[in-house]
Amino acid sequence: MLNKRNRILAAEAMANHSHLFLCPLCSTSMRVEELRQLICRKGHSFDIAKQGYVNFLPRPAASKYGQSLFRSRSMMSESGFFESLDRLIACQILAHIGNQPVRLLDMGCGEGSHLTRILDMMQTAGCHGTAGVGLDIAKEGVRMAASRQPHLLWCVADLARSPLAGRSFDFILNILSPSNYAQCQRLLKDDGFLIKIIPGDGHLQELRTAFRTANRSNSGSKLEERFRDNFKLIQSLPLRTRSKLDADLIPHAIAMTPLSWHADIGSIHSLQELSFLDLTLDVTLLIGQKHR
Ligand SMILES: [Zn+2]
Repeated sequence: MLNKRNRILAAEAMANHSHLFLCPLCSTSMRVEELRQLICRKGHSFDIAKQGYVNFLPRPAASKYGQSLFRSRSMMSESGFFESLDRLIACQILAHIGNQPVRLLDMGCGEGSHLTRILDMMQTAGCHGTAGVGLDIAKEGVRMAASRQPHLLWCVADLARSPLAGRSFDFILNILSPSNYAQCQRLLKDDGFLIKIIPGDGHLQELRTAFRTANRSNSGSKLEERFRDNFKLIQSLPLRTRSKLDADLIPHAIAMTPLSWHADIGSIHSLQELSFLDLTLDVTLLIGQKHR
């Protein structure tokens, strides 16, 4: 009964960190009841799903990000495509902390591959006791994350109404997904760090070329400008790698990104027939702190 075990592991993790949660309906504190649900002081309750996550959405959110996209992202992550990025993030976190346990939130965690790997790398480096929270509006992704790592804290929630207590986190990660800067300001401790990963002009350029998708030139600099408007930029680190993907990974590279949603079938087939594909990861890591 893997799933029953998942729910209990998740409930125990949530009970240990219940102070991180805040009712999204009335903003009172929450506790775990009977290893089954999170309940607030006014009685609003949210069940812990058998996979090991809590859904805080009042109604299901429409999302084009389905199970197959998250499965493909997970396959790409397991292939090592994102490993240098995850390592860079883990190293930056480790560089900014002593040996004390930290609280880490991944806003827009998807299927949880980044958060899981980053925490693994931190643990290997001797950093134990980190509380990792993954939050995303797409239930399919969070469900997959929880199924694999029930001892972490996974929430399906609207970024704008996150069920988390203010000034709780030492680090907030925002990896290749939209930001909600107001929530980052609210959730981050005053001396905490926001780590945001933005795409560079060359990111996945081989897919863009194949799909004839226009390069959103300057999109990176616009994203950095928005970051600077909201946080004090203390570091900007570019990262560019190129990986050779075997034929069996190419369909997952295609399916992991919305870039393929408007591509014509012919160009998708042409890519799928290749015996290998060199694919570029081109991103910039921005580290910021609250303005004082
Ligand atoms: Zn409540």
